[in-house]
Amino acid sequence: MSNKITIAIDGFSSTGKSTVAKRIAKELGYVFVDSGAMYRAVTHFAIEKDFISAKNFNKKGLISQLDGVELGFKFNNDLGFAEMYLNGSNVEKKIRTMEVSSFVSQVATIPEVREQLVKQQQQMGEDKGVVMDGRDIGTVVFPEAELKIFMIASAEAKAERRYKELIERGDKVEYEEVLNNVKQRDHIDSTREDSPLLKAKDAIEIDSSNLTLEETFQSVMQLVRMTLEDSE
Ligand code: C5P
Repeated sequence: MSNKITIAIDGFSSTGKSTVAKRIAKELGYVFVDSGAMYRAVTHFAIEKDFISAKNFNKKGLISQLDGVELGFKFNNDLGFAEMYLNGSNVEKKIRTMEVSSFVSQVATIPEVREQLVKQQQQMGEDKGVVMDGRDIGTVVFPEAELKIFMIASAEAKAERRYKELIERGDKVEYEEVLNNVKQRDHIDSTREDSPLLKAKDAIEIDSSNLTLEETFQSVMQLVRMTLEDSE
């Protein structure tokens, strides 16, 4: 298994993409990149600077300050994964709130934001040996990826997964609020003009509705082994 490949994991919100991508990366000794964290960090920046709220969305203002957004991942040995940094500060917790979730898909429609983040993502995957999860990884960021996975699940399975995650973190949220957010994000992500969430022609679909995380991981791992054998 000496050949390094690029693994793109796209799909709808809360289908278990990041969890599986993280485990696959660990198993292979690859770099894991949660591209959604980057869109969330830009959204956190936009909220802090008052460019987006329930009442207003100042796209031009945000675009004009994109040069001041410096993103980076730093590996946390205790947690076993890389955390998101925005302008030198650890924002890993701040970007997982319902507030950020409620605005992130709007921010992700802005072509200038996407252009900047896609460029950075491509640099991170330059040397292959990367597992990246997101919405446009197999279609836009790495159209040449050797393995592309597209994850789907029922709206209820997705909301339950997300709800459990938030409750375990100690957030006070209602299940209905989470379900609506997941549905709304999936709708905006699939219908936006720039890089909509699409299954790449050569992607393999996995429905995680009735699979445990272990089962999902094993199915992806089997595809990884086959792809690695083919690439030798
Ligand atoms: O993956 P996660 O759910 O954290 O992503 C948050 C949001 O970021 C998505 O709902 C989507 O709007 C946006 N996103 C994107 N393209 C990516 C990754 C995430 O538009 N590659």
